[in-house]
Amino acid sequence: MDALDGTADFSLVCPECGVGNPPQSSNCLVCDRDLEKTVAFLEDDSFDLEVTLDCLIEYRKNFWGTNRTGKINHYPLDKMQNLEFGGEISRFKFDYEGERKVIAFRKENLEILKALLTDLMD
Ligand SMILES: [Zn+2]
Repeated sequence: MDALDGTADFSLVCPECGVGNPPQSSNCLVCDRDLEKTVAFLEDDSFDLEVTLDCLIEYRKNFWGTNRTGKINHYPLDKMQNLEFGGEISRFKFDYEGERKVIAFRKENLEILKALLTDLMD
């Protein structure tokens, strides 16, 4: 018998609506967003970041970090170059379409991102 034991895992956070879904879900339980391409979802102070197999998607949040502004930046992985992680302060830097982009991350998120991208862009 497969009784519910109260340890159901809802660790796959939907990048669209923020609701936790069981890992392996193909679509969000609440908003039906396609979750198959989502590799990771990181909440940071001024943005939420979704990592997919081929893209970084940055959902900008307001000054207080309480709501999204609606501004979304897409960075296809194959167009990002010269990646640089950290240093004295936790920043992620890369070249994109001729511009140097700098994104401030929480340290723990930067570590996760570094590991993921190193893997994905290998
Ligand atoms: Zn959703």
